[in-house]
Amino acid sequence: MSAVLSPSLAAEPLAVLHEVFGYGAFRGEQQAIVEHVSGGGDALVLMPTGGGKSLCYQVPAIVRHRRGHGVAVVVSPLIALMHDQVGALDELGVPAAFLNSTLEGDDARRIERDLLAGRLALLYAAPERILTPRFEAMLDSLHERGLLSLFAIDEAHCVSQWGHDFREEYLGLSRLHERFPAVPRIALTATADAHTRTDIVERLALADARLFVASFDRPNIRYTIVEKADPKAQLLRFLRDEHEGDAGIVYCGSRRKVEETAAWLESEGLPALPYHAGLEADVRRTNQDRFLREDGLVMVATIAFGMGIDKPDVRFVAHLDLPKNIEAYYQETGRAGRDGAPADAWMAYGLQDVVNQRRMIDEGEADEDFKRLQRGKLDALLALAEAHDCRRVRLLGYFGEDSGACGNCDNCLTPPATWDATEPARKALSCIYRFRQQGGQRFGSGHLIDVLRGKVTDKVSSYGHESLSTFGIGADLSEAQWRGVLRQLLALGHLRAEGEWNTLELMPSARDVLRGDVQLLLRVPAEPAKRARGRGAGRGGAAADKPPPLPLDDEGLVRFAALKAWRADVAREHNLPAYVVFHDATLAEMARRQPGSLDELAGISGVGAKKLHAYGPALLELLAG
Ligand code: ADP
Ligand code: ZN
Repeated sequence: MSAVLSPSLAAEPLAVLHEVFGYGAFRGEQQAIVEHVSGGGDALVLMPTGGGKSLCYQVPAIVRHRRGHGVAVVVSPLIALMHDQVGALDELGVPAAFLNSTLEGDDARRIERDLLAGRLALLYAAPERILTPRFEAMLDSLHERGLLSLFAIDEAHCVSQWGHDFREEYLGLSRLHERFPAVPRIALTATADAHTRTDIVERLALADARLFVASFDRPNIRYTIVEKADPKAQLLRFLRDEHEGDAGIVYCGSRRKVEETAAWLESEGLPALPYHAGLEADVRRTNQDRFLREDGLVMVATIAFGMGIDKPDVRFVAHLDLPKNIEAYYQETGRAGRDGAPADAWMAYGLQDVVNQRRMIDEGEADEDFKRLQRGKLDALLALAEAHDCRRVRLLGYFGEDSGACGNCDNCLTPPATWDATEPARKALSCIYRFRQQGGQRFGSGHLIDVLRGKVTDKVSSYGHESLSTFGIGADLSEAQWRGVLRQLLALGHLRAEGEWNTLELMPSARDVLRGDVQLLLRVPAEPAKRARGRGAGRGGAAADKPPPLPLDDEGLVRFAALKAWRADVAREHNLPAYVVFHDATLAEMARRQPGSLDELAGISGVGAKKLHAYGPALLELLAG
């Protein structure tokens, strides 16, 4: 054991954070978690996407390795990302490796030798590999010699059938604990719901583990939900006005829409790539790699894209279609701004979204209990979309956290004007009622709006709807206003859209609205004023652990550009994404402070000992020149 003990190296969590990662302080719960696990305790960690889960097992792994306890085995389902994860540790000077099906035999044997010799601090492996006899024999050998320091189970929600990420092989992981009960374990996930949590505790036998629930707030993300008018134009304006040159993700509800949207953005001169499960594996792989490695690409994707994507500088996540529920929305938007710098979660939402999502549930295969649950979850998301008050208060409230108005969402920044739509709502409902009375038929929203606005179309004449008492009683409202009224009636469950033609049907609660017992307040759709550009423009709501960066002056920008070019060369040479070399924020800080010595350079967040040594001289020369 003494062979792997490195007494010259710091073996305390905070010292490791400073020396290896170059960070000044732990974030939130990180410190408590890291101390608990470094000391040999078991932990279950619930932390939002971008909250900083990796450090929670990486620091204990390094601490325990330096104390002579050997290797931490990290279980992860994300084979495609292991290369970059290990590459990032390599850049930090941490001895790490991965074993998965992508390795050649020779490489695998070399890694196994390093592993058995106790040279590695972390080993990443896929769950199916860990359960093979060969791997178990290695674990036995390590364990006998006291060189098995920790099991880290990442994406622990994969053990639950409840979510959509279930992996059969995760069920076998309970074996690790049965076989090696004394080896500490840490399980991590960003999925917070109670059902998933219970599954994790049960299936991974973590009943005695300490539970850490971090705040789910992501203060640097600004939430904005706009009403769909012309979604393409709205998206384009959002991208051009606020995110030119930024990397981001645009989520769409279908494969076809992904392809159309990506092609259309390209035709508008924006660099965009498609990603969905129907594309060939190597196309997916290439597009994902390019998104991670190149600057400023827009990934247009279905929800098939995203799990484990730890690119820190995704500056926006846009939704062109409504996600399934708040959990999905939060997970997807959480991929923005992991680096703590300002980022946007932007969604366009309209009448059709409500109709589609409701129908998907109604027509799904699930049993009635599950459907009821899904409807409840959709209702919570619709309430968020229709809200006039702080979006973040509602989001956090959904996860059981109390908070005050955030000052960094659309409703806080520009409190929406509202108008009283109670009367129009009654008119619409009674018009639907008249349709039924007259001919027993149902109609969709387009025809209803025509009748309300007194438009004589062929369809209106053929049904004799000009003679209805409700014909033309809503001429004072625009079509868009009427769509808003109907959307809200659908969202609140007073109306239901049915069948191929989305014909509208009154629900029992419509009676309360007709009677005037329910007040409906609608936002006045307003075009958001053009905002100052995000980065460095002094936006509010930066992450708590760093003050918002000062803007760079012209010379600073020149230095920043030079640093980025240098970084691109290094990244290419090492076959790694640029952010693995240094984050944007670290380069910006170098450009701003212009350190003149290694000591000054070491004071910048993100510059640890290994990078200082490897890159310091080149950086100082570049900054001096
Ligand atoms: P998660 O896995 O929870 O989604 P990550 O582990 O990828 O999040 O961390 C998100 C980003 O925050 C990473 O780029 C990481 O380097 C950074 N980070 C994490 N903890 C700290 C810290 N204490 N100080 C500075 N940066 C941090
Ligand atoms: Zn707010």
